[in-house]
Amino acid sequence: MQVINKWIEKEPSQNAVTILRDRYFLKDGEGNYLESTWDEVAKRIARHVAAAEVNYTNDIEEIKNAEEHFYQLIKSRIFLPNSPTLFNAGKTMDRQLFKKDIEETTLEDYKTIFDSRTKHNMLSACFVIPMDDSMNAIFDAVKNAALIMKYGGGVGYDFSVLRPKGSSIAGTGGKSSGPISFMHVFNTAASTIEQGGARRAAQMAVLRYDHPDVFDFINSKKDNKGSNVLNYFNISVNIDNPKKFKKMLEEDGDLTLEHPTSSIKKTIKANDLMNKMVENAWKTGDPGMLFLGRHNQYYAMSEHTPVTATNPCGEEPLPPFGSCNLGSIDVAKLVEDIDLGNPNSEDASEFQEIVYWAIRFLDDVIESNIYPLKEIEEISKKQRFIGLGIMGLADALYKKELPYNSEQTRKFMAKLIAELAYFSHVASTELAKERGNFPDFQRSKYPNGFIPFPMLDDEIDEDLKVWNQKIRQHFQGEATKYKRNVQTNTIAPTGSISNLADTSSGIEPNFLLSYVRYMTNKEGDRVPLSYINPILMEKIGTNMTEELKAEIIEKGSIQNIENIPDEIKKIFVTSMDIPPKDHLLAQHVIQSYLDASCSKTINMPKSSTIEDVKAIYLQALELNLKGLTIYRDGSLETQVLTSASKE
Ligand code: ADP
Repeated sequence: MQVINKWIEKEPSQNAVTILRDRYFLKDGEGNYLESTWDEVAKRIARHVAAAEVNYTNDIEEIKNAEEHFYQLIKSRIFLPNSPTLFNAGKTMDRQLFKKDIEETTLEDYKTIFDSRTKHNMLSACFVIPMDDSMNAIFDAVKNAALIMKYGGGVGYDFSVLRPKGSSIAGTGGKSSGPISFMHVFNTAASTIEQGGARRAAQMAVLRYDHPDVFDFINSKKDNKGSNVLNYFNISVNIDNPKKFKKMLEEDGDLTLEHPTSSIKKTIKANDLMNKMVENAWKTGDPGMLFLGRHNQYYAMSEHTPVTATNPCGEEPLPPFGSCNLGSIDVAKLVEDIDLGNPNSEDASEFQEIVYWAIRFLDDVIESNIYPLKEIEEISKKQRFIGLGIMGLADALYKKELPYNSEQTRKFMAKLIAELAYFSHVASTELAKERGNFPDFQRSKYPNGFIPFPMLDDEIDEDLKVWNQKIRQHFQGEATKYKRNVQTNTIAPTGSISNLADTSSGIEPNFLLSYVRYMTNKEGDRVPLSYINPILMEKIGTNMTEELKAEIIEKGSIQNIENIPDEIKKIFVTSMDIPPKDHLLAQHVIQSYLDASCSKTINMPKSSTIEDVKAIYLQALELNLKGLTIYRDGSLETQVLTSASKE
């Protein structure tokens, strides 16, 4: 493919190489590097995952063809899988198998790779672990989560099943200490786990809005400065039916907090709950809101295994013991040559091919993955969750000269994600024809013509109407018979992999156009790396003087720099330049085409009031969203990126 040829020889930046060395190159037991180039990493992953195809064919050429496509996607950094796949594929296996040229690799080699997988080869990023309301079950969940986090996976839990604080405990005559006290147990476990040497732990705690301990939950992180209180948790209040809750707020209605296994019952004002959530979110960003009812509405197996929580960053709703592996396509690289979002473009087929191989890769990961628990393996293989998403949206918009916060751009976003969703689902159907449906398919909603996302109105845009028609036709036609994966699309934060790809993260605007990032080198010293967005550099071209550079690095945004023309300012916006409402609308249009969800933060300026935050919370209840995360600038001391002037 032409677009791949263009990017395959481009070497990762210094920043990307530093991250590779820190986290992704394989090491032996003594900590010596076994790899030193991106090429070796790409080859290792492609070969490990392609080896899963021995399950479907004995034709060595077919397997090699898959490996070659996977290799090209990864090496060009047009597509990258989630971090656990990057650092756990091929781990502890015979290195020689990965050093051979593809021409010399035999069917036996692929079989050996497949058969020599061990618990170290855990490839997924997202898990949800259930717990029951008993000591045994809670500590089982702690153990299960510890196993997952050890290999770099993130875990979500629904704590709503635990009885509220002060409820009686049969047999001991004692009183329960409540869900929040158990969250501290999980937090401590997370803090003591070596994240496979690769990263710290991340968890999501969910609690229903009508659980009697909901105020304790909402307050559980209110004194958080970023590194002290429940710092291995994000917390989200589950409001199953956001429209009903909104009505309750408008009518200033009462809300009964109760729990099936407890006699504790309290009546509160719904508005008091809302105000407390908003006040704390204003202070620290937590809690977010999660609308699991909407997640279930668009989940094809909700009647059998409803989703109960999401992974830590909120983009992947899952049922108990569910797992999902993610991958992201860098659209910033593609927009230079492919007219993304346009259903009539001649190069749509090139994008379709990229999506097909990315979906096939993620489907193969399900087979090549070693699951930390047999329950997880069971449901992951019965439903086959995968999450293909994008990264580089903000940089793609810079290249296309589209301001993130405009109506026209939102139409582009919708068309782009509609195209991704359509091609992903077509690929999953193609794979089903060859490999079989996901085993739960007949029990799912797909045979009845179910469309797993809401879509936007046909009237908004002519091209979008075409995508909508194609999507309807697919789900009313072939998808009623063939579907390999229960869900196909998730947009991850891509916190690490976007750095490897030298692109902007996920669907977020760039947080800053320039920054100084401190990296710790091998000797343990903090070294500054300064960065200016390369697309901006190119746009300003020869007008980029040393003084201007210094001013951009100082400010992080160009909005208040005199010598830059307004047309450039309009396009090169950062998170903080964009009004919160436009963040929310971007999330809305993108989420309208996702069967899973997306990671999106609604950034708010430091000067925002509690009322401003409330307005966003209320609007989120109204739009067709699956959740909400806000962040007010400067509200956590450990904010990762700050412009030089704020250091
Ligand atoms: P990456 O870029 O490293 O692949 P993302 O930032 O896209 O990861 O996050 C994707 C998902 O991976 C998260 O929602 C979470 O489930 C998991 N994850 C991310 N960071 C961590 C971490 N430090 N520990 C455990 N899981 C994580």
